[in-house]
Amino acid sequence: MPAPAAPTFHYTAEDITRVFEQACTETVKVNDEVAALTLDECTFESVIARKGRLDNWCGIISIPEFFRHVSTDKALRDAATEGSLRYEASAPLSKSESSLLSKRCTTDINSLSPENARLLEKMHLAYVRNGLLLDDEKQEEYKRINKRLAVLKTEFSKISNEESSYRLFTREELEGLPSDFIDHLPKQTDEKDGQEKHKLTMKYPDLLPVLKFAKNEHVRKEMWFANETKCPENVALLEEALSLRRQAAKILGYASHSDYVLEVRMAKNAKTVEDFLSDLRSKVTPIGTKELERLKALKCAEKEEQGQEFDGTFMAWDKMYYHQRLLESEYSVDENKIKEYFSLPQVTAGMLKIYEQVLGIRFVEVESADTWHPDVKYLEVWDAAESKDFLGHMYLDLHPRDGKFSHAAQFTLADGFENEDGSRSYPVAAMVANFTKPTNEKPSLLTHRELETYFHELGHCMHNLCSKTKWARFHGTSVEWDFVEAPSKMLENWCWSRAELQGLSGHYARKGEKIPDEMVDKLIKSKFVMAGLDNLTQNAYATFDIVVHTRDEDNFETTPLWNKMRDEITLIPGLHNTWRPASFGHLMAGYDSSYYGYMWAKVFSSDMFHSKFEKDPMSVEAGREYRKYILERGGSVDAEVLLRDFLGREPSNEAYFTELLAGTGNNAKL
Ligand SMILES: [Zn+2]
Repeated sequence: MPAPAAPTFHYTAEDITRVFEQACTETVKVNDEVAALTLDECTFESVIARKGRLDNWCGIISIPEFFRHVSTDKALRDAATEGSLRYEASAPLSKSESSLLSKRCTTDINSLSPENARLLEKMHLAYVRNGLLLDDEKQEEYKRINKRLAVLKTEFSKISNEESSYRLFTREELEGLPSDFIDHLPKQTDEKDGQEKHKLTMKYPDLLPVLKFAKNEHVRKEMWFANETKCPENVALLEEALSLRRQAAKILGYASHSDYVLEVRMAKNAKTVEDFLSDLRSKVTPIGTKELERLKALKCAEKEEQGQEFDGTFMAWDKMYYHQRLLESEYSVDENKIKEYFSLPQVTAGMLKIYEQVLGIRFVEVESADTWHPDVKYLEVWDAAESKDFLGHMYLDLHPRDGKFSHAAQFTLADGFENEDGSRSYPVAAMVANFTKPTNEKPSLLTHRELETYFHELGHCMHNLCSKTKWARFHGTSVEWDFVEAPSKMLENWCWSRAELQGLSGHYARKGEKIPDEMVDKLIKSKFVMAGLDNLTQNAYATFDIVVHTRDEDNFETTPLWNKMRDEITLIPGLHNTWRPASFGHLMAGYDSSYYGYMWAKVFSSDMFHSKFEKDPMSVEAGREYRKYILERGGSVDAEVLLRDFLGREPSNEAYFTELLAGTGNNAKL
C-alpha cells in the first residue's frame, strides 16, 4: 500500500479558531440529538457508538491544540489556548442523557464485542462519577462541593506561584557552592546588620544547590526550614479540600476519596495501594538503613576533619549534601565526558534501529514533508513483521526555540481508530524535546539523562504508533493513568544496558571510538546510589497522600501527621514546627491519591523488563509479544490483563526488589 497522506500544518489563527468552533458545534449537536431520543429509539448504535464516533471525529482539534506548545507565532498559540478553553466548556454532560445511558446499561452487554462493551461501561461510569445519577438535591450538593473545590485549587496554586520568601547570606556562609553560581545571585542589604548579602529564594534553582553544596550546616538548615514553612495559608485550604473530597465521595457512595479516584486506575482501590506501599516500605527500609549509615559515616568524618564534634544526628537538611559528597568521592561520573559519545544524529539512528528490531517496525524518513518548523523531522512508520501495513506518522521536534514547550514530552496529534467503512484512521505522534542545537564545531551532544528521556518519550510514541483499537477513546496511551508510564519506563532500561549503550555510542570527533568500559561501569553503578532512601522519601509522600484521602474524619490536622510520617518513613527526621503539606502541590493539582503512581509504574516496568528482556534486550520474540500484548491493545482492555497476558503470570514486585538489592550492593534476598 502507498503511505496515506501525512497531515499538514498550515494553519492561520482563523483556521485554528474555526476548527475548535466546528468541534464545539458538532459536540453540542450530537449531545442534543442523543438527549432528544426516546427510550425506544435508544440503542448502542444511536447513543454509545454515536458518541464514540464523536470522540473519534473530535481528534481534529489535536493539531491546532498542539500549536499552543510549539508554534513560533504567538497569535497561533493564543488562538489555540482560547479555542481549547471554549471547547472544554462546550459539552457539559446532561442528566437526560445519563438516564438514557443507564437504561442502555441494563441491556445485554454480552451481545456486544468486548471493545464495544467496554465503551458502554466506561461511558456509563463517567456519568455515575460525575454525579448525574443522583437525585436533584444530592446533585446540587455535589455540584456545590465541586465548585468550592475548584476555587480552593486555584487559590492554593496562586499562593504557591506567588510565594516569594528568601534568605540572605554572606559569601563565606555560602562556602561550597560554585563561585559562578554565587556571582549570579542578586544582592541585598540585610537590615539586621547593614551588610550587603546574597539573596536566595525558595525556587529550586536556588534551593537545591544550597542543600547539595553548602558546607555550613546552619545555612542548609535555614534554607530547609524556610522552604518547609512557606505558604502557611495553604494548610487551611488543603484541609478544607480534604473534607470536601471526603463528603463528595460519600455522596457518590464511595468509602473514601481514594476509592473514588482509584476505581478507574489499575490499582482499583485504596487497599491495594496501601498494601503496595507498606510492602515496599518494609522491604526497602533495611536498604535505606544501611545507606543512612554510610551517609552518617561521611558526616562523622567531615566533622572530625573540621575539628568539630559529631553528635550523631542526621537531619533532613543533611541528606542531599552528603549524598552529593558520596557521588563525588566514590562514583565520579563525568557527565561532560559521557556526552561526547552520544551525538544526536548517532543516537537517533541507533535508537530507531533498536525499536525497528525489537518491535518489528520500519521507519522511513521523508525529507520533503510539511511540518511546523524547519527543525522538525518526519518519519513514516510501517509494520515490518507481518502485515507490512502502514502504522502511523511520527515527528521529531528536538531543539529549543522561542515560545516552544520547554520540557520533553510526547504529543498525540491523532489517535488511530476504525472508520465506519472499516478502513483505518492512522495515528500521528510527535516527540518534543529541547536538546542543545548543533553548532559548526559540534553536533548536538546528549547527556545520559537526555538519552534516557529520548528513549522514554519515543517509547510513548511507539505506544501510540503500534496501537490498533476500534475507538480513539482507547487508543495507545489512553490506558489507566497509573499504567501509562510503565511501557515507556521499561524502554529506559536499554539506556542502562552495557551492550546497548556501547552500541549507541561513538565519539563525535574521534570516529569509531566507542564509550570506554570503565565509564559505562561507573555510570551503571551510580544508578542506584541512595536508591533506598530516595524510595522511602517517595513512599512517605505517597503514603501521606493515601492516608489523608482515606481517613474517615473531618477537619483533622495534616501537619503533625506529615511530620510524624516523614520522621518514621524516610528514616531522617526534620523539625516539627514546619508544614510541608502546604507546598505539596500534587495534592491540589490533580494528583490527589495518585502519588503512588510513580512507584507503581517503576515496579511493573521492572517486572516486564526483567522477566522478558533482561537476558537479551534485543530479543525479537519478547519484542513482538510486547507489541502485541501491551502496545497494540492500548486501553481496550484492563492494564492488569495486558500485563498478565504479556508476563504469562500475575504481575509481581519481585523483579523490582531484586534489581534494587543488586544495584545497592545487597545480595541477600529479603
Ligand atoms: Zn512519560
